[in-house]
Amino acid sequence: MKALIFDLKRYAVHDGPGIRLNVFFKGCPLHCLWCHNPEGVAFEPELMLMPHRCARCGDCLRACRYGVLSQDQEGQVQADRTRCTLCGDCVEACQREAIALVGREMTVDEIVTEAEKERVFFEQSGGGVTLTGGEPLAQPALAEALIDSLKQRGIQVALDTSGYASREVFLRLAGKADLILFDLKIMDEKKHQHYTGVSNRPILENLKALEAAGRPVWVRFPLIPGVNDDDQNLEAMATFLSDLKVVRQLSVLPYHKGGVEKFQRLGRQAEFAVFEPPSPEKVDQVIAFFKKKGFQVKRGG
Ligand code: SF4
Ligand code: SF4
Repeated sequence: MKALIFDLKRYAVHDGPGIRLNVFFKGCPLHCLWCHNPEGVAFEPELMLMPHRCARCGDCLRACRYGVLSQDQEGQVQADRTRCTLCGDCVEACQREAIALVGREMTVDEIVTEAEKERVFFEQSGGGVTLTGGEPLAQPALAEALIDSLKQRGIQVALDTSGYASREVFLRLAGKADLILFDLKIMDEKKHQHYTGVSNRPILENLKALEAAGRPVWVRFPLIPGVNDDDQNLEAMATFLSDLKVVRQLSVLPYHKGGVEKFQRLGRQAEFAVFEPPSPEKVDQVIAFFKKKGFQVKRGG
């Protein structure tokens, strides 16, 4: 059994307690216009160009048998991705690591081996492994086998999810994790559909259903000006969450433009949008709002 993974990040400190190994699952049923990990959205490997590293030597063009790559007048490499077979020959040919295939298949054992290398950091810091993405629940068999294997070895597991999955899959995997990091974006269903491509109903219903599982939940709220920072959304979110005893913490994650360069490198700029980050005052105001409502609030992940 293999999963499509687009990154393993060591020494992560923003996605659960302590020092963590983040396992990024590739593929997500949502398509948030502000996504800061756009390489995690598609369910297949992708060609990524990194012009800042490129020497414009043309080696990759010569290596490609399918005529996918060309150079513009300035020598910058362009790709017609519709013809790319993902063979990787251009990646092999490039001496500058300026072209890459994002996403590779990994087995549970391979991921667990990487996690074991970090064990000393997990034990000293109270950390562990975080399954994130993309959406781990979109590859449920591998995600479940990975959680089982890590838990058998005494490694703590956090599940970072949009909550968009069947109830059965969601509760089964959430019930096995030590901590759920639950991304909550927009309370209005139509707006949620517009900005993420899916309804928020299964998401909200799954979060409510977690009450019975009794696993601690840290809610993560990406704050995006003009999208979800209005009083109506904040009030609706506070009202919804205040009924849930499993919610132990609310993290306010100010939008940043970290994803913009990545969706340009993937040639997918038309699918995403650029927003302005919230002002520090606005972030303070939102944190103060939730604190006043009785939540334990953290700035950032
Ligand atoms: S991955 Fe293969 S087909 Fe795609 S651009 Fe590179 S060499 Fe060409
Ligand atoms: S081989 Fe690498 S450095 Fe040379 S043109 Fe291609 S991407 Fe740029």
